[in-house]
Amino acid sequence: MTTSAPVLLITGASRGIGAATARLAAARGWDVAINYARDAAAAEAVAADVRAAGRRAITVAADVADEAAVLAMFNRVDAELGPLAGLVNNAGIVAMKARLDEMDVARWQRMWAVNLTGSFLCAREAVRRMSTRHGGSGGAIVNLGSVAARIGSPAMYVDYAASKGAVDTFTIGLAQELAAEGIRVNAVRPGIIDTDIHADSGDRHRPQAAAAVIPMGRPGTADEIAAAVLWLLSAEASYTTGAIVDVAGAR
Ligand code: NAP
Repeated sequence: MTTSAPVLLITGASRGIGAATARLAAARGWDVAINYARDAAAAEAVAADVRAAGRRAITVAADVADEAAVLAMFNRVDAELGPLAGLVNNAGIVAMKARLDEMDVARWQRMWAVNLTGSFLCAREAVRRMSTRHGGSGGAIVNLGSVAARIGSPAMYVDYAASKGAVDTFTIGLAQELAAEGIRVNAVRPGIIDTDIHADSGDRHRPQAAAAVIPMGRPGTADEIAAAVLWLLSAEASYTTGAIVDVAGAR
């Protein structure tokens, strides 16, 4: 029989870094809520792996940029898994490779909506549940930033890079805001990781093609990012908050 475990919500966990984080979380003893946007079958496959590891899992469809959907998602986690102990703000999007003078406002609005409003909304709901100020038992939040925040991604997607710069700033400020309320807030900044996200910039083979500009000579794997996320969520990181951890092969 599965005994109760701390509950972790991971946004965008149907594939890529989020899915790897869900699988590793189960191995480390977390029950997992697997959020996704479109691909229910992929999310269910991740949930099956979590259950095979002996942990509880639910899948929850919600666009993280949609407030009503996010509120409903957190209510389902409360009802079906119990009190939240961790949040991984992983859902994020890029857009087609472009220069600034080729971009339109609709693209930026969607980028800010998913990468920023989505992270803010999910963090707000997590804080309302986990903060000792609200009667909660504390917890941990990990945001997925990107080394794009310090590189700037010229002629590729400066809008994405800027959104991830804001994720860094959000992490620093929220960590201080919550430090005395039992909640640690940290970020992992991946370098170029071998996931499907690169197809959305029009360059599916970017991880392999970019190997030459990565000092370690290869792209990272989703499992290598998941390992850093799970450490930041763990009690081993009990004095680590407001940290931004680059996992990027020295890029
Ligand atoms: P990915 O393979 O494209 O997967 C994205 C995940 O997010 C999917 O599960 C997708 O669900 C979900 N998603 C997309 N839009 C969503 C929305 N509006 N609401 C809820 N879920 C949504 O991405 P990844 O490469 O694993 O990246 C994960 C995070 O790491 C992102 O924040 C990304 O910016 C960051 N990152 C990635 C890299 C890299 O090289 N891969 C580098 C630096 C930072 P569906 O499939 O169901 O739509």
